[in-house]
Amino acid sequence: MKVRTRFAPSPTGFMHLGGLRTALYAYLYAKHNDGDFILRVEDTDQGRYVEGAVELIYSSLKQSGMVYDEGPDVGGNYGPYTQSERKDIYDKYAKKLVELGGAYYCFCSKERLETLTDKNGNRKYDKHCLKLSKEEVEEKIKNGEPYVIRQNIPSEGVSSYNDLIYGTIEVDYNELEDNILIKSDGMPTYNFANVIDDHLMGITHVIRGTEYLSSTPKYNLMYDAFGWERPVYIHLPPIMKDATRKLSKRYGDANFDDFVKKGYVEEAIINYVALLGWCPKNNLEKMTMEEMIENFDLTGISKSQSIFDEVKCRWLNGEYLKMMDDDEFVKRATPFLNEKLLSLDVNKVCKLVKSRVEILSEINDKLDFLVDFNAPISELYENNKQKSTVELAKKVIPLIINKIPEITEFKNDVIFSTLQELAVSLEIKAKTLFYIMRIAISGLEVTPGGATELAEILGKEECIIRLTKALENI
Ligand code: GLU
Repeated sequence: MKVRTRFAPSPTGFMHLGGLRTALYAYLYAKHNDGDFILRVEDTDQGRYVEGAVELIYSSLKQSGMVYDEGPDVGGNYGPYTQSERKDIYDKYAKKLVELGGAYYCFCSKERLETLTDKNGNRKYDKHCLKLSKEEVEEKIKNGEPYVIRQNIPSEGVSSYNDLIYGTIEVDYNELEDNILIKSDGMPTYNFANVIDDHLMGITHVIRGTEYLSSTPKYNLMYDAFGWERPVYIHLPPIMKDATRKLSKRYGDANFDDFVKKGYVEEAIINYVALLGWCPKNNLEKMTMEEMIENFDLTGISKSQSIFDEVKCRWLNGEYLKMMDDDEFVKRATPFLNEKLLSLDVNKVCKLVKSRVEILSEINDKLDFLVDFNAPISELYENNKQKSTVELAKKVIPLIINKIPEITEFKNDVIFSTLQELAVSLEIKAKTLFYIMRIAISGLEVTPGGATELAEILGKEECIIRLTKALENI
């Protein structure tokens, strides 16, 4: 049988990293097994609906390279793929489930429901309406009494199923409630719609978060009542910020978009997300989507929570930036450059930092000295290893200032060879001269790029201006 997995997000406004990982594992599992990956939009809770959220789901999946075979915007043989367009289907199956004894109509008022608690003081429905005869139910419906349809959960017994990650899961029916399947407005709840859709859409493997581990017995009751085959279950542990807190918007930056805005590249985010709870057999870390598909294997999935490690995520992103071809880097980095940097030669600016930043938003800070010059303090010239002293700087800088106008083609290599000759004539090491020059034109002890590389970007005039200011400051 062809493997079919699905990602079933609710359009509540953003693509959380946890959701992204669920989608990714469902995608990788399907593709590893030559199966189909389906996108289904679960929008039956209209109160939580956020404008634009559906588009964000589409774009996040596309940006991260997960191509879904079926979905609301691409179609397919099992549509519609948006739950709010499937109301009639749910209605039909809910009625059928009532006939099968797996569900019943409930007419209880809000006031009555508020008085109900179980022995532990938790609110729990008491199956009051299960007692109604078929005729009584029909009469009430005819009279226009509002109703919901509830699931009929056995009062006792233990339910058991197998999860591919967590093994045998047993839940006492006593702990479950006769939840609402169809609300009074006719809309289904998640509890009902997920079962109907997973079955009708031919989903073979249900991959989702552990928050559904204990409610899955309810869904199994429905599969069983309809006489449908249960899907295979794969529940995934949560992603944590630290030992006690779940990664969430509340603690900042938990969304795909936030990471993109900070200057992470999509491929790196996806790659890192893949590693949150999955360890490939060969311990690979940096993987393309193809490699992830090839290596994906449930035995590498951990039962325990994974902790989001920003340091590692940044490192991985830096690796992606380093490996990127230069043109691609310029394309991705340009939107992050501030206006001042954009007024310089963008290609050169980018080259300077490509292997020196971990995320693109660091570029402005790293290159601030190119647009905002503060003459260095004298101490910076003192460096034993470079054989540089303040006295020497005082002597060498004016000579560099004199030499620069002679360099007609103000390019890195030409500047380099010209000043190398100057060093020879002064009987000092070239590295010492370049050290002094780099400090003088940048104002900093540490910079990305060497003296002549920076000089080319700054241009002849700016170099002379900076060298002059630096000299005055000694
Ligand atoms: N709409 C549910 C959610 O966003 C889907 C859960 C599932 O995959 O079954 O949590």
